[in-house]
Amino acid sequence: MVDCLVIGGGISGLLTALHLREAGLQITLLEQNGIGQESSWAGGGILSPLYPWQCPKTVMALAKWSQTHYPKFTKELAQRTSIDPEYVRNGLLVLDMNEYPQAKVWAEQENIPLELLENEDLYDCEPELENYNKALWLPEIAQVRNPRLLKALKKACELAGVTLLEHHRVRALPQKNNKIIGVEIDQHGFIAAEIVIITAGAWSGNLLNTIAPPFEITPVRGQMILFTTQPGLISRIILANSHYVIPRRDGCVLVGSTVEEAGFEKVTTESALQDLKYAAFSLIPRLADYTVQKQWAGLRPSSPNGIPYISKHPLIEGLYINAGHFRNGIVLGLACARLITDIILGHPPILDPSCYTLTATRK
Ligand SMILES: Cc1cc2nc3c(=O)[nH]c(=O)nc-3n(C[C@H](O)[C@H](O)[C@H](O)COP(=O)(O)OP(=O)(O)OC[C@H]3O[C@@H](n4cnc5c(N)ncnc54)[C@H](O)[C@@H]3O)c2cc1C
Repeated sequence: MVDCLVIGGGISGLLTALHLREAGLQITLLEQNGIGQESSWAGGGILSPLYPWQCPKTVMALAKWSQTHYPKFTKELAQRTSIDPEYVRNGLLVLDMNEYPQAKVWAEQENIPLELLENEDLYDCEPELENYNKALWLPEIAQVRNPRLLKALKKACELAGVTLLEHHRVRALPQKNNKIIGVEIDQHGFIAAEIVIITAGAWSGNLLNTIAPPFEITPVRGQMILFTTQPGLISRIILANSHYVIPRRDGCVLVGSTVEEAGFEKVTTESALQDLKYAAFSLIPRLADYTVQKQWAGLRPSSPNGIPYISKHPLIEGLYINAGHFRNGIVLGLACARLITDIILGHPPILDPSCYTLTATRK
């Protein structure tokens, strides 16, 4: 019998498995497809909620913890695995000036650097930006290249001795006397374990709903497009009208994203392509000189108010969940994995866990 089974190989599962393995537990991670190919791959890798001043305090508390720890974590991960997740603190320009009053109050209260950039100062920063003459500048916001982060995490798990089983879909969570006894897997039978952790992203609701009253984790589709430009065309993350442009070091530029209720239909659409191109060209007209190299979709695990479930199950002993991170699973991932590890091991938690339980009011 293994100590612990982790269901789902996205950022939540990989980080949770790694933390628990490093604490000395025997861990097997089960992934229904290939590791790191769902929402965690599809995301933008911005290490902040998009308009942080609008975010519930409970989400910001997790984001802040992660933001403090990401630089050291990614540096050590790169050293350990020889895969660089490209942590870059290139800042965020917000062009929605109606956000300024609320953003200013928030920045003062939280002691976050925030500047107002106007005219030449703005165009000196981003010469290709057009149609705007004012912006809020948050210099400390960083990004990671999430597909590379996932590759590095997969390798770190392998090096640490986590057993990774791809193409193993968990279909049921058998239990005895209100205690979890393992998982049932399509075509592979039963694996026994003391502890089972659900980190199955948008699919977590389906798994939990087989054994308990419904929890509110549902898929919300997001589509993105990619341009390949010359490095340096754009140097900062730019956000306007809920659309963003993310420049990578090598000149790749991501533009996102849609927010669509489409069930588990992970498909791209022509209308999203047109919307995203329109958003991109309105911000950076020069992008129209480049062709769209790629378009993709991912399923975000939405939860009420985007407040994740990081908790033991209230009725089933040995069953835990770390899911429902909605639009912020990359930035929250580090803190959430550490918090669920603290809960499982009975360590003093990094944050008050009561607001992330399955029964907490999500406001
Ligand atoms: C377009 C887009 C842009 C985004 N941008 C950002 C951003 O800039 N910053 C940010 O912080 N967040 C962003 N996000 C959100 C973030 O990507 C998600 O919140 C996060 O990836 C969720 O991680 P996860 O590991 O919980 O889920 P996933 O990455 O979806 O992983 C869950 C895994 O569980 C597996 N699984 C499911 N059911 C089973 C089963 N029964 N048995 C075995 N395996 C199973 C799935 O196959 C999957 O691999 C974005 C998301 C999208 C779609």
